[in-house]
This record gives sequence, C-alpha cells and structure tokens, in this order.
Amino acid sequence: MNIKIYNSLTNQIEDFHPVRPQEVSIYVCGPTVYNDIHIGNARPVVFFDTVARFFKYLGYNVKMVSNFTDIDDKIITKAQELKVSETEVAKYYIEEFLRINDLLGVEPLLARPKVTEYMDAIINYIKIMIDKGAAYQSGTDVYFRISSIPDYGLLSNQKMEELEVGSRIEVDASKEDPRDFVLWKQTDEGIMWDSPFGKGRPGWHTECVVMVEAIFQGEIDIHGGGNDLKFPHHENEIAQALAVSNHTIAKYWVHNARIDLSGEKMSKSTGNVVWAKDVLQKYSGNVVRLMMLNNHYRQTILFKEELLERSVIEFDKIERSYLSLYRTLELNEGFDDAGSHPLMNEFLSFMADDFSTPNAITVLFQLMKEINIAIRTQETYHKLNQYFTAFQGMLYILGIHVDVTPLSDTDKSLVRAWQGAREMKDFQQADLLRAEIAKRGIKLS
Ligand SMILES: [Zn+2]
Repeated sequence: MNIKIYNSLTNQIEDFHPVRPQEVSIYVCGPTVYNDIHIGNARPVVFFDTVARFFKYLGYNVKMVSNFTDIDDKIITKAQELKVSETEVAKYYIEEFLRINDLLGVEPLLARPKVTEYMDAIINYIKIMIDKGAAYQSGTDVYFRISSIPDYGLLSNQKMEELEVGSRIEVDASKEDPRDFVLWKQTDEGIMWDSPFGKGRPGWHTECVVMVEAIFQGEIDIHGGGNDLKFPHHENEIAQALAVSNHTIAKYWVHNARIDLSGEKMSKSTGNVVWAKDVLQKYSGNVVRLMMLNNHYRQTILFKEELLERSVIEFDKIERSYLSLYRTLELNEGFDDAGSHPLMNEFLSFMADDFSTPNAITVLFQLMKEINIAIRTQETYHKLNQYFTAFQGMLYILGIHVDVTPLSDTDKSLVRAWQGAREMKDFQQADLLRAEIAKRGIKLS
C-alpha cells in the first residue's frame, strides 16, 4: 500500500519509505510533567496512537516512543510551591498522564523514557557538540552555536535574516549570536547534576534528540508533536542532530494542529483551557477519539461541547450496529475467517492519504449502513462475516472499543425463544421473554 505523509520538513506530501523495511520508528515529544494536560495536549496522544495502529494493522513492526520531560524550571517551581521534591511532582503527573492515556485507549509504546534516566548520555552529547565546534561554554552556561549549521531554519522555514535579533529572541551578552540556545545551564537551585560544565541541568532541546539517538541509534522514520513545537524545539533538535550525526533525526516530521478554545490558543497560564481529565470524566475515550479524528490532524479544532455531544450520538450508532451484527452472527452460524469486505480497502486508502481520518470515518458509517441493510435482508453469513471483519479492522485503527459480552448457551436459547415467539406473533410470550432478557442484562442492539 502506497502511504503518503505530509512532511513538515519539506512542506510536501511524500511517499512513505521506512528507514528499515517493514518497520516504523516513531518518536513523539511527550509532556513536561508539572501540571495536568489540557484537551489540546491530548490530541497528539490520540493522533499518533491512531497512526501506530494503522501501521500495525498493515503488518509493520511499529516502534513508538514518547518521553516525559521530568526536569524543568516549571517542575522546580511547582515542587517549591508544594514543598515536595521534583521527583514527587513528576511522579504524580506522569501517573496522571498515563491514566488519561488509558482512558483514551492508547496502546502500549516501545518505551516512555524520562530525561532523568538519560543524564549521562545528555552530558556526553553536549561534550561531542563542544568537540565538534558546534557548542561553546560562556559564562555559566553552554550554548549551541547556530552559525555552525548553514541549514538552520529548515523546519520552521525561517530564513536566517528573519531569525535575527528583535523578533522573539532576547539579546544576551553571553551568547555569540542571539539565536544560540542553551544546552546546559549551571544552577544552584533545585535539582541538579554534576557535569564537566558545572553543576546544573540540560536544556530541553537536547533531551529529546539524545533520547531518540540512545533508543533508536540513528535516523528514525517519524518525529511527531504539536505544531507549536516546530520552533524553537524541533528546529533546535534538528540543528543538534545535523551537528553530531549529519541527519535531521527523522525522514518525516509530522505535526498536528491545535485545539483552540473561544477562538484562541489554549493556555494553562491564562486559564483559557479545558482539562483532559474533566472531559474524560464526562465523556468516554471513544467519544473523545471520535471528536478528534473527525477532523484532519492538520486542521485546527475549534473546541465546543457540541462536538463531543455529536460524537456521543456517533458512538451510540457504532455500538448499536456492532452489537446487532455481533449478536446476529453469534445466534446463528457464528464467526468465520471470511476475509474482509472491500470497504476496508477504501478505509485504508483514506488512512494512507496523509491519515485522512474524517474520510475514513465516513467509510465506517457507510459500512454500518450496509450492515444494517444486510441484517434486514438476511444476507449470507459469509457476507456478514466479511462485514464483521471490516468493522473490527476499522474500529481497531480508530482505537474505538465496543464492549460486548458473549452470550452463554442459556442466554442464546432465551433470545432464540423470544425471536421465535415474535415470528409466531405470540406477543404476550414475546414480552415475557423480552423482560427476562432485559433482567439478565443482555444487550441485543
Ligand atoms: Zn521533544
């Protein structure tokens, strides 16, 4: 299957050719664990899980990694406020993040590395950059030397001149060039590590590039994250990888758009925010996934409660259709390996078209429409099984889970007796049996 991906590095749709055949390596920047995540932060979680599921469905060996930034000034501030250690703050928000991931139906990753576990590798990486002339120590800090990378600005498409002083970069006397960024910061406050450059902490941009290198040892297929990470974070990750390994970390850089609230960027500091945990208390992970995947990942979602309400109705339809097909098969000839319905290929081709989940979901609803007709018109069980295989495949890729309890033999006899009574138009008996079915908590559709 020819897969096309929009590569943020080239601003083009490109054919996907993995670095290693039949394998897909993915690194997604994870959260800085000093606070709860908002619903916009959950978008890359859902989107990249869907990407991983799609590749797995196609038979690729998917190696996905997402990190925790467990040291940061914000974590230190929070720890001081709460009078606890940085480790305790990080531990709490990591657990909370993982709980949200579970609620969203995210599949296990290859690894979830923490920055604090990679300190030796980070220090070593900075040493290499200094040796190569791509970094220098000045005052108390170590900086990356932007001028050592002629291609700087590749990802964010910013020309050198546009990145000059004055825009968003503050002038700092200890830097050779205002665009140079911190690799190691000496400090005498908060958690710190010994290094040849003094006691301190690493800069954020070095952490991710080091974890990718340590885990994958070389160029990977996909580096992902939210759009707002493009500059400076991802641009600076690339600059370091170019300096040390002469590659851009990943062949394909994939960025998802934001979820905005009241026409503005969500921000924890201004309070213009909807917390993921609040949404997930009210709505299931299925509903939240549908709401997000109803939009193409490169499109900004304008958050409204109505979007979730619409997805509640959608999930209800999915659940009923799935259940009625499941029960039909279960009560009759059962499940067999009948191959998949052709609509599955249509679904996959939309997924292969730069992960066009809204179109793929339209195919899912088309499938459900056909299923409902097929059940009514008593299609062959072979055909119904093909529908069922396709249905399962689509739900797997979207990460939508329908909970079905298989019927016991007693349940089956009861349901068959009810169906028989209805056919004989013995409505009194049918009502009695229906009540018994309901009492036993059997969901039919
Ligand atoms: Zn990162």
